Amino acid sequence: MELALGRADVTDALPLLRELDAGHLSDIRRQDLLRRVLGSAKITELNCRAARMLAIDACQLPVPFSEVWPFAEAGLLLQSLAVAQTSAARAHAEVAFKTADGPVHVRFITWREPGSVAGALSLGMTDITGQVTAEKDLVALRAQMAHADRLSTLGIMTATITHEVRQPVAAMMTAAQAALRWLARSPPDLDQVTQCLETVVAGATKVEETVARLRQMASNRAGARNLCAISTLIEDTAEFLRPELANRRATLTLDLAQDLPLVQADCVQIRQVITNLMINAAQAMADAQCWNRALRVRARHGDAFVVVEVDDSGPGVAEADRRRLFDGFYTTKSTGLGLGLKICRQIIEDHGGTLDHAPKAGAGALFRFSLPAL
Ligand code: ADP
Repeated sequence: MELALGRADVTDALPLLRELDAGHLSDIRRQDLLRRVLGSAKITELNCRAARMLAIDACQLPVPFSEVWPFAEAGLLLQSLAVAQTSAARAHAEVAFKTADGPVHVRFITWREPGSVAGALSLGMTDITGQVTAEKDLVALRAQMAHADRLSTLGIMTATITHEVRQPVAAMMTAAQAALRWLARSPPDLDQVTQCLETVVAGATKVEETVARLRQMASNRAGARNLCAISTLIEDTAEFLRPELANRRATLTLDLAQDLPLVQADCVQIRQVITNLMINAAQAMADAQCWNRALRVRARHGDAFVVVEVDDSGPGVAEADRRRLFDGFYTTKSTGLGLGLKICRQIIEDHGGTLDHAPKAGAGALFRFSLPAL
């Protein structure tokens, strides 16, 4: 396969590179020098493959680097050009070239041929656009999936509540108000009152059925229980949430005891609990703009249970709010639903375990859940 190769002449940029190296420059001076380096260092030759890659016609050469190299990555160009001042060295950089056909991600190598004059550089390029795009897609997909995973149950529940509970509650309210009006008549119309109360009873029954269905949906997926290794579930979730945690600058430490017993569980649901607790922790630390964002997930064997702890160094939960944490719709977030912890507790209790906010020494919050060990 033909390699993408080229040559550059950076002679005019050498004094600028030396000035940049000398240091003690104001920001404005540094920016100005960088701009001049990009303008004065030139690509002088490209073989066919390299010309195609950068969408440059051979007759356009020489082309200043400023035409193809993004100014935001000028620092990388400096490193690449630095080999012009030394011999027997190579510099590697990865950069998104601006080309007429759009950005092209390139692994870019510069070196000096033995005996060449200072300022004459050889260039080697590999197009890695496919690889970079695939990696970006994967990161975006993971973030989306983590989000969807967390919101799926909540989303379904919210939609159901909105459609199925609001309507009968509104009907009950109208019927109750009408009943009060019929009662206030002189004499009161008891037939109408009875009709209204029947509407209220029907509404309440509908709400009760809906709630029962929601509970079942959130907690019981019959037949989905398998033997699960908690450590593996935690490790998988941690890997899956890596981009989300990195976004919120949370550092994760896993402390998982060896040889933990297995648990009989719906792995999807338990993963959802771990995800929820980890995301809550990362969100709390990021929202409070904590400088230290340490998230620790521990798993150990305690009596007949496997115990998992999700421990953060965020603002923690105020004493007065602790008893409301697991109430439905308790949230301190502007976009929160306040259902996550309630659903998590329901899931764990349906598996025969417990989930609680636990006291801890030092700052932050600690959530602990246990599942019966096999
Ligand atoms: P949501 O995330 O939608 O608010 P949750 O039920 O998951 O719903 O959480 C309820 C509330 O509990 C949050 O709004 C937050 O105030 C509090 N909370 C949960 N986890 C933490 C934590 N790790 N640190 C501090 N507060 C927390």
